[in-house]
Amino acid sequence: MTEQIAANRELFDQVMVPNYSPSAVIPVRGKGSRVWDQNNNELIDFAGGIAVNCLGHCHPALVDALKTQGEKLWHLSNVMTNEPALRLAKKLVDNTFAEKVYFANSGAESNEAALKLARRWALDVHGSDKTQIIAFKQGFHGRTFFTVTVGGQAAYSDGFGPKPGDVVHAEYNNLDSVKELISDKTCAIVMEPLQGEGGIISPTNEFIQGVRQLCDQHNALLVFDEVQTGVGRTGELYAYMGLDVTPDILTTAKALGGGFPIGAMLTTTAIATHLKIGTHGSTYGGNPLACAVAEAAFDTVNDVSVLNGVKTKEQLYRDGINKINAKYNVFKEIRGKGLLIGAVLSDDYQGRAKDFLVAAMAEGLMTLVAGANIIRFAPSLVIPDADIAEGLLRFEKAVAKVVNG
Ligand SMILES: *Cc1c(COP(=O)(O)O)cnc(C)c1O
Repeated sequence: MTEQIAANRELFDQVMVPNYSPSAVIPVRGKGSRVWDQNNNELIDFAGGIAVNCLGHCHPALVDALKTQGEKLWHLSNVMTNEPALRLAKKLVDNTFAEKVYFANSGAESNEAALKLARRWALDVHGSDKTQIIAFKQGFHGRTFFTVTVGGQAAYSDGFGPKPGDVVHAEYNNLDSVKELISDKTCAIVMEPLQGEGGIISPTNEFIQGVRQLCDQHNALLVFDEVQTGVGRTGELYAYMGLDVTPDILTTAKALGGGFPIGAMLTTTAIATHLKIGTHGSTYGGNPLACAVAEAAFDTVNDVSVLNGVKTKEQLYRDGINKINAKYNVFKEIRGKGLLIGAVLSDDYQGRAKDFLVAAMAEGLMTLVAGANIIRFAPSLVIPDADIAEGLLRFEKAVAKVVNG
C-alpha cells in the first residue's frame, strides 16, 4: 500500500530544493482553460503553463494520442527509431523551411543542440577561429550553463564558476550594436523573434532583416529561438513566417508538446550534416510517447481556423485590456503578438507586476509576469471567447483592488 501523504504547500518547503517559490494554490485537474484546485476552487487560465498548454488542459485529441500510444510503446532510446518521431519530423519539415529535425526534451536542450551545431559547423566549414556567438540582452534561452550564458541576464548565469566563452550580447532592436560586435569570427547570432521572458518585445522589420543581412555578410548562422513563439503562439505556425526572415536553425519546445515535455531543433540538410554520428545525443529525445502527443498537438494547431482564431482572440484581449485601462489607467502600453501579450505598467505602478498577479489569483485568474513591470498572458490558443470575457472581468476586479490598495 502506498502511504497517504498530505500534499500541501508546506510539504514543498520540506522536500523540494528551494529554487522555486510556487503559489499556495495547488491545482489538481483542468479542462480547457479552467483549472480546479484541491479545494475545488475554479480558476481561469491565462498563463497556459508559460505558453506551453497551446490547447488548454486535457484536450481530447492529446488525451487520445497519449492513451493510444501509451498502450503501444513508450520508449526505445535512439538505438532504434520509431513511427511517431518519424511522422512528427516529416510534418515539421513539410511545414517549415527546415529539412532536418533533431529531437530533445525541452527548450534549453533544443538550444544546447543548436549552439553546439553552430560551433561545429563553423569549425568544420571555416576553421577554429570562428567561435563568437552574438546574443541579446534580456534574451532567454534556457537554464543549462551554455544556454543561460547565451541568455542576456548575467544574474542568471553568474555564480556558477567559469562560463562557456566567446559569447557576447548586443541590444535588441539596435542594429548598430550588432554591427559593432560582428565580424568574420562570428559563428552565429542567436535571438528570439519576439523576446518573451525579457518583456514581450517585438523586433522591428528593419532590425530583424538587418540581422539576417549581417549574418549573410559574415557567413554566420542565424538561430531563431522559437521555444515561446512557436507552434501558433503569434498567429503564424512559427513567428519567422510573419517576419519575412528565414533562420538557418530554429528551436521549438513549449507548445510543441501541448504540455508533454518535448523540444526540437530544425535546420537545413547542409548544416545538419555537421552533427555526424556520435557528436550529440539524448536518451529520451524523440521518445515515441512525447512525439505521438506532439504530433496530435501539431495537427490540431496547424489549421487555418485555429491560427486565425489566435488573431481574433488577440483583439479580444487588447480591447478588454484597453477598456480596463480606460477606467484605471495602470498600463502605458500593450505589447506582443497573437496570444503572447504583455501589458506594461505605467510609471505609478513600476515594479508591481507581481502584486497584480497575486490579486488576479485571488479573483480566480492565473496570469504571468515578464519581469517586474509587465503582466503577461499566454493562454490556450483555443481558449473560448467566453473564458476570455470572464477572465478579463476577474482581471478588472484584481486591477481595482491593486489600484484601491
Ligand atoms: C522557456 C524558454 C526556453 C527554455 O525552455 P525550457 O523548456 O524551460 O528549457 C528557451 N527559450 C525561450 C525563448 C523560452 O521562452
